[in-house]
Amino acid sequence: MPPPSSPVPSPRWVIPNFILKVEDLNHPGATIFFDNVKPRQALEDAVTASYKWMYTQLTSPTHVKKITLVLRSFEGVAYTFGTHTDKEIHFSLDHIKNSESHARNEILGVLTHEVVHCYQYNAKDTCPGGLVEGIADFVRLHAGFVPSHWRPSCGDKWDAGYDTTAYFLDWIEKRYGEGTVRKINGSMRDSRYSEKVFKDATGLGVEKLWQMYCENLTEKS
Ligand SMILES: [Zn+2]
Repeated sequence: MPPPSSPVPSPRWVIPNFILKVEDLNHPGATIFFDNVKPRQALEDAVTASYKWMYTQLTSPTHVKKITLVLRSFEGVAYTFGTHTDKEIHFSLDHIKNSESHARNEILGVLTHEVVHCYQYNAKDTCPGGLVEGIADFVRLHAGFVPSHWRPSCGDKWDAGYDTTAYFLDWIEKRYGEGTVRKINGSMRDSRYSEKVFKDATGLGVEKLWQMYCENLTEKS
């Protein structure tokens, strides 16, 4: 028999150690969580999506060694904090319970969003908060976990964050080619935030891009 043809190797990203803590197994949100996702796989997929949409094999950072996911009851959805190497994501069991009708999509979407925060650059903490959140939801959008209420929209601010900025970044990615958001993230690695972040990636300033995006949206509607 001829030797089997070797499959195309899949990208080898550095996957950190994962730790899961559940503060209250009796909370209905905990049951919904375990009924809908396999935690290890869900976290690994979120890490892979973060790498894929923000980095290449050559540029992906390797500093994150551990991600701890804590499921507990609190007001709100989720948040992430930690050190350069150890990250901690807190995810609300109440939110999971409230999202029961679309739990899988919401759990995987929120995990993807929070894991992006473990890996994205933030221009030495000078990146506008709305861009930080927009990039996290841009990755969530591309990972395919889109909440039903998300819409491309145009208000007065490009950095309103979340789905508003995510769809704006998606339009930029489509117009200027795959990898444009990677460039935007990459340029915030070592320097402080400035106009150059969008100019270097697209040739245009962000306000001009926002204006073009809004005109485009208005024409379509
Ligand atoms: Zn966030």
